Amino acid sequence: MEPQYESCVACPRACAINRNEGKTGYCGETADIRVSWAGLHFGEEPPITGTGGSGTIFITGCNLRCKFCQNFQISQDGLGRAVSSDDFAKIALKLQEAGAENINIVTGSHAIPAIATCLRLAKSQGLSIPILWNSSAYETTEALDVLDGLVDAWLPDLKTLNPQLSGNVFFAENYPSVAKKAIRRMAEKSPLVFSDGKDGVTRLVSGVIVRHLALPGKLADTELALRWFADHLEGKAALSLMTQYTPVSANPQAREIDAFPNRALIQDEYDRLLDLLAELNIENGFYQELVADTEWLPDFTRTQPFSSKLARPIWHMSVGFL
Ligand code: SF4
Repeated sequence: MEPQYESCVACPRACAINRNEGKTGYCGETADIRVSWAGLHFGEEPPITGTGGSGTIFITGCNLRCKFCQNFQISQDGLGRAVSSDDFAKIALKLQEAGAENINIVTGSHAIPAIATCLRLAKSQGLSIPILWNSSAYETTEALDVLDGLVDAWLPDLKTLNPQLSGNVFFAENYPSVAKKAIRRMAEKSPLVFSDGKDGVTRLVSGVIVRHLALPGKLADTELALRWFADHLEGKAALSLMTQYTPVSANPQAREIDAFPNRALIQDEYDRLLDLLAELNIENGFYQELVADTEWLPDFTRTQPFSSKLARPIWHMSVGFL
């Protein structure tokens, strides 16, 4: 039970319902923290993956619920199992024991108070690898401050700065203003620091990597987001330009997408994005190769939701530890 859930304003949706009494708001979650899968993930940016893989913990529920979400089984369909603080700490410690470079908490914006409690417990029990906060950036600065002293590095999305698009695809016209404020707060909290290991591998120690997923037919919106990054964060944070957009035919919400053509990026769009990175002089960051398959689409009903080269499962909601 977290006092902040009694009239929940834990995120900008401000549903004001009592999650401690089992009620759910936009995120679909009560006071229970639920997890769907945890394991070593090898598909993150190189300084996050390192050699041991990123110790990823996927939280059930989401306060954004994008129509095109690739993880819709857990963000929207509620696939997951309630875990106690002790269970959560055990999962994090097991990931550390398995060689994880860091603990990478995915989409926990709606559960910040409970996750803070879990992280304090895990740290008191010996968790010492960096903690990464991997979120949509649809978060209040007050909520982010709850994570002070617990999170080392931040991996926020900057989904769009177009309020019409954010209203259309995740019912949050205020997303651009909220996300800009949240990301700036993250950058204030955490200077960008990489370490060069004796094994020749560079690792993220602290700081912010802003992730932007380019959407098909929406290059003008990508340009808006990248220009904002160049004007406000270049030199203070890194940028990760993602081009893996894949239509998710299994997600019923995806059929309602009418704001852009629901297809993968084409080569011409990809080439224009690379030109834009050069034009804006964004040097500190990463960009993906253009992938033309469904390798990125996970299935969280399986203990191995990803392709085996991308991930090593440690815990699954159906069986616990593997
Ligand atoms: S965390 Fe969930 S219940 Fe609380 S305000 Fe956000 S969407 Fe609503």
